[in-house]
Amino acid sequence: MIQIRCFQFNPIQENTYVLFNEKKQCIIVDAGCYFEEEKNELLNFVLENNLQPTLLLNTHAHFDHVFGISFLKNKFPSVPFVLHQNEKVVLDSFAAVTAKYGIAGDVPPDADYFIDEKSELKLGDEKIKILFTPGHSLGSLSFYFEPENMVVSGDVLFQQSIGRTDIMGGDFSTLVQSIHDKLFTLPDETQVYSGHGAVTTIGEEKDFNPFVGKNA
Ligand SMILES: [Zn+2]
Ligand SMILES: [Zn+2]
Repeated sequence: MIQIRCFQFNPIQENTYVLFNEKKQCIIVDAGCYFEEEKNELLNFVLENNLQPTLLLNTHAHFDHVFGISFLKNKFPSVPFVLHQNEKVVLDSFAAVTAKYGIAGDVPPDADYFIDEKSELKLGDEKIKILFTPGHSLGSLSFYFEPENMVVSGDVLFQQSIGRTDIMGGDFSTLVQSIHDKLFTLPDETQVYSGHGAVTTIGEEKDFNPFVGKNA
């Protein structure tokens, strides 16, 4: 059984997730730790729980989701950093974009390899289902953990909201289609762990989301 722990990091209040199993293996999704105390908080959680990171996994590469990658790669050099190939251009724009926003941070390293829906990803023995959910960013991925019935959705779907589509790679109709085809086909009781804000469920968003719900 996989457990999930959420941290809210950086001035953009991004959700970083640590998922771990009873064998103490863990993956870190969207490491957004920015300030020194945030980096230490994340590292201490891993160390104090004797967790062994196996993957630095990203839903996408917007700067608020990669602030902590460089720090973690220094601490755990053998742990691969992976995301979708379409996010390479976003990752490569990190320095320019953070300069524009006046929020300088550690430049993330290149991905160790790219993943898509056909890739085999596991946490311990458990398979992670990869869902290609573009629209907020060109290579947005969501990660579905079937036995636990939870999905890490990045900035695709939020509690009563959806991701921005006014930035590079964003497209509203693509995003709506991703949500309908890939997320709303999951069971209603699936817990949705978003890139920002509170945990919700697929059923709640089908009912109440003003952008993609039944009354949209
Ligand atoms: Zn984003
Ligand atoms: Zn974000």
